[in-house]
Amino acid sequence: MSAIKLGIVGVGKIATDQHLPAIAANGDFQLLASASRNATIPGLPGFTSIDEMLAQQPDIEAVALCMPPQHRYQAARAALLAGKHVFMEKPPGATLSEVEDLAKLAQAKGVTLFASWHSRHAPAVQVIKAFLAKNAPRQVHVIWKEDVRHWHPGQEWIWEAGGLGVFDPGINALSIVTEILPNAMFLKSGVLEFPANRDAPIAADLRFTDASGLDVHAEFDWRQTGKQSWDIIITTEAGVLRMADGGAKLWLDDVAQELGDEGEYPSLYRHFAGLVQNGKSDVDLSPLRHVADAFMLGKRKVVDAFES
Ligand code: NAP
Repeated sequence: MSAIKLGIVGVGKIATDQHLPAIAANGDFQLLASASRNATIPGLPGFTSIDEMLAQQPDIEAVALCMPPQHRYQAARAALLAGKHVFMEKPPGATLSEVEDLAKLAQAKGVTLFASWHSRHAPAVQVIKAFLAKNAPRQVHVIWKEDVRHWHPGQEWIWEAGGLGVFDPGINALSIVTEILPNAMFLKSGVLEFPANRDAPIAADLRFTDASGLDVHAEFDWRQTGKQSWDIIITTEAGVLRMADGGAKLWLDDVAQELGDEGEYPSLYRHFAGLVQNGKSDVDLSPLRHVADAFMLGKRKVVDAFES
């Protein structure tokens, strides 16, 4: 099969750091052009809107959408209506309803829609999933604490409604937990801390359970200086699993486990190529649904204003 001709939309941090190298290393894709209001990719035609890119580069067969989630629906809809396959960065949209609408449109047009969750492609995730299928979890503790000033400098969209605030990284943890647990979990209670001057939370403390009464405690905090944590600790009858660095490292009872070395984004693009080749879509909204539930059920606490 010839390479899938690709356009990339929203040339910012994640497009530059991860998408471009992963696309360049994957023979199943050929990058033809980009669409971004202020940025271009050296050596490639650059347009300021997806509509212009699709009109000027009709050979494009698929697009990767890397803009903030509040602006993804219109771009995805335009691409799907034009018969293109669509790869969406996480979170897939600003609301559950708009992504469901896109999934229906993709089906009607007979093209692939991929709502990606990059953290699910971290090396430890499938290892943990296989372990938990044989050894039921008794307790799960998620600790996702990072310094927003370091990781998101100048990203005003992340503090606006729909930008998700601390759930922007926290949803990565939720994408892992929903992948590895044998049963569906649901929120029992939560506290969301909103800076007095922002529309999105800076911290969240969430308690989930499942049909068997499993205790899942998730702590998300953007005020963490010093050591950063993207850890999940899972107690089972067969030992304690400790996942660190967002799924790059794993220990069972303090014994380091051997993991594969494929990066998250090379794995994502391999999966996307397979979906396109097999005429399938992959749209799992469970991480976004848990965030919506947290906004619906969580208590709101106003905390100190945040100045970047
Ligand atoms: P970013 O650095 O702000 O880049 C996003 C780009 O989208 C901007 O540079 C901007 O380029 C374009 N854009 C289009 N419409 C926009 C608007 N109305 N407001 C702001 N930008 C707009 O953000 P990012 O970190 O790459 O994140 C983009 C998406 O990737 C988010 O959904 C995020 O959750 C996800 N993601 C980020 C990371 C990470 O480590 N940063 C990791 C994984 C996933 P133009 O100004 O040229 O249009």
